[in-house]
Amino acid sequence: MTEGVPDPALVVLIGASGSGKSTWAAARYRTQEIVSSDDLRGIVGSGRHDLDASADAFRLVEQIVAARVARGLATVVDTLGLEPERRRSWLAVARAAGLPAVAVVFDTPTELCKSRNAERDRPVPAGVLTGQLKRTREVVGEVAGEGWDLVSTVSTTPAVPTALDQPGRVEQPHPTTVGDVVLQVSRFPWGEDPTGWLKDIALAADAAGFAGLALMDHLIQIPQVDRAWEPIPEPFTTLGMLAGLDTDLRLGTLCTPVTFRAAGIIAKTVATLDVLTNGRAFVGLGAGWFEREHQAFGLPFPAPKQRLADVEQAIETMRALWASGTKAYAGSRVNLPETTSYPRPVGQPQIIVGGNGERSLKIAAQLADACNLPTSAAFEQKLEIFERHRGDREVAVTVLDLPVVGHDRDDTWERVERLRGRTAAASYARQHHAATAVETRERYERLFDRGVSTVFVGLADLNDAEDVYALAPVTGRR
Ligand code: GDP
Ligand code: MG
Repeated sequence: MTEGVPDPALVVLIGASGSGKSTWAAARYRTQEIVSSDDLRGIVGSGRHDLDASADAFRLVEQIVAARVARGLATVVDTLGLEPERRRSWLAVARAAGLPAVAVVFDTPTELCKSRNAERDRPVPAGVLTGQLKRTREVVGEVAGEGWDLVSTVSTTPAVPTALDQPGRVEQPHPTTVGDVVLQVSRFPWGEDPTGWLKDIALAADAAGFAGLALMDHLIQIPQVDRAWEPIPEPFTTLGMLAGLDTDLRLGTLCTPVTFRAAGIIAKTVATLDVLTNGRAFVGLGAGWFEREHQAFGLPFPAPKQRLADVEQAIETMRALWASGTKAYAGSRVNLPETTSYPRPVGQPQIIVGGNGERSLKIAAQLADACNLPTSAAFEQKLEIFERHRGDREVAVTVLDLPVVGHDRDDTWERVERLRGRTAAASYARQHHAATAVETRERYERLFDRGVSTVFVGLADLNDAEDVYALAPVTGRR
């Protein structure tokens, strides 16, 4: 989150009184993430400076650090940090939990610490402060050999404003948009006004800088998103309505299973959407996976091998019916006596193949315009398989990202807590890349640098247009 400090991590602050430790922590972490010996003295003793309560306060420090770190939660230890045994034990706790351990040394000039100390209600005695400052200089040498994953030094000079004087961030956002961000809508909490709700969401997405809007294609709401009786509208009908709004949004599905409609009908539907949007249609294609919806709607659900062959066949059929002319088509998988289908699409609607298995990745690489991958832990591995099959063929990489995005760190973690169900908060946050909108944008820029052309972003807690506007920073356009 800051200056290369991993997140979550155990962060141990080291520095004399007045060196700026508590200020640094408060600008970057939630109150609950900071374990401060001063605060705990104030709780178990008569006040923050009740030295008689130190032993009790430190017992609590140890207990809280151990409990939080074991849960994989970000933890900042705000004490002087000058005692090697305490540092060693915190480091061991982090190691045992597999959490990165970071030491942050406050290399604040002596005079500045002294003057800040003098201004305090209860200054530390001058001799004590001098001792702390001397000890800090020794500790700088000690921590290097202690085995921390990172030792970060915070230097504060009074004359030169530092990052600490501008809490938040230092680096500027990228000047240009290098990839597209498309809003994926999977829940429809539209209350009494489905049309009004959809219209508000789409207009907000356009205004917030999204390049497009994608809808899931399911007959029953999927368990990953919501309960089975929540509304999940037929996507092409819905996109047809959105096509009539005055926006620049690309419109399409992510993904349409080839099991729902004959390939020729998908071709016709997408061509029509492309005409109605003047060339803004795209279509995700997949093999389908949700057996329940097929059974409920009386649709065959063949074995995976057949469904994947159907994806290949669908792509060939769609391209044949989108090409100009009406002549017969004889391909490797499909034969059509004629290819009369009007209107033709305005452009070539992008065909995005979604799916995780090796065969899906191969189909995407060899036949589609784009391959859609989830931004899960296996992303790099899948991308490499895809790239191997792609060779020199021009095929884009798109990703489906299902993040938790908050206004700030507090809001982000409140969302994690609301959404996580029975999954541990740290796991849920990791799986869903929980972060602020600005941090999420930085992650997308890293994906664009890795060759991703489009990020489809879907939020589990997208309820209204306000939630869409709040995502504006992730689009990089507003
Ligand atoms: P600690 O004793 O190491 O926890 O130090 P604090 O964080 O409490 O800081 C001591 C005093 O220095 C406070 O009055 C802060 O407002 C001030 N201070 C700390 N860091 C900075 C900084 O980066 N810039 C400025 N201008 N003041 C700071
Ligand atoms: Mg402090």
